[in-house]
Amino acid sequence: MIVKLAEKRGFCFGVEDAIEIAEKAIDEHGAGNVVALGPVIHNRQVVERLESAGLRQSGRLEELEPGANVLIRSHGATPDVLQQAEKKRLNVIDATCVLVKKAQEVVKRLHQEGYRVVMIGDRNHPEVRGVIAYAPDVVVIDHVEDVARELPHKEKLGIVAQTTHAPEHVAQIIAAIVKRPYVELRIVNTLCLEVIRRQQAAVKLAGEVDVMFVLGGRHSANTQEMARLCREAGVDTYHLETWADFDPSMVEGKSIAGIAAGASTPDWVINDFADRLREV
Ligand code: SF4
Repeated sequence: MIVKLAEKRGFCFGVEDAIEIAEKAIDEHGAGNVVALGPVIHNRQVVERLESAGLRQSGRLEELEPGANVLIRSHGATPDVLQQAEKKRLNVIDATCVLVKKAQEVVKRLHQEGYRVVMIGDRNHPEVRGVIAYAPDVVVIDHVEDVARELPHKEKLGIVAQTTHAPEHVAQIIAAIVKRPYVELRIVNTLCLEVIRRQQAAVKLAGEVDVMFVLGGRHSANTQEMARLCREAGVDTYHLETWADFDPSMVEGKSIAGIAAGASTPDWVINDFADRLREV
């Protein structure tokens, strides 16, 4: 097959930083002595590598002994978790992406300034769960249909978005909000440019190929969004984690394949996939 790669793909600076912080912590404290609160990033292959280097995982602070080294994932943590960690005298190693941290601070400030905070995003995503905990009563919406149903009637709204959402999706929801009689809307752009550049590169490539492979973790929001945008561009698109998910029927009758990858997909996964696909 002819294989083309998206110009911008794979690791962003937030993911690179989080992996580096995790590796340094393991080096410093020793294998088995650093516990991550959930997957450090949304990529199983990277998480498995970190685990084999000695990173442990736990979903619960209660399980940890005082003084334990606890790693906060790139998606951040709620203020409650951080307070509990402090109370238990845990050594907190923070790998929260700076852009997620910024979103947390924006939500807190908007609330302090009297805005009812609205977050456009997936309420089940760990980043969103963390960010909305920085102010009370944040309304989370992810679909245009939610606007009439979920939003309060008359208030001044402060709006932010999940960092990994596509600008087009956020713009649709904001367009629905501005049609309603709000006294004031304050929109703070919390979208991540790293994600937008990868999405744009993927959509551009989708216009040049017969089939698209979008590589990345099943739970990676930015990879899911990238695959959705490629499908919307009208090309057959498969969201796969690694070559193990590939099936020859996916390229039947196709001659040019495109490969794009989310911000948490390592180069070794992308290169391995591309090499094998060229052989098909
Ligand atoms: S995709 Fe953006 S927000 Fe998410 S970790 Fe990377 S740089 Fe940070």
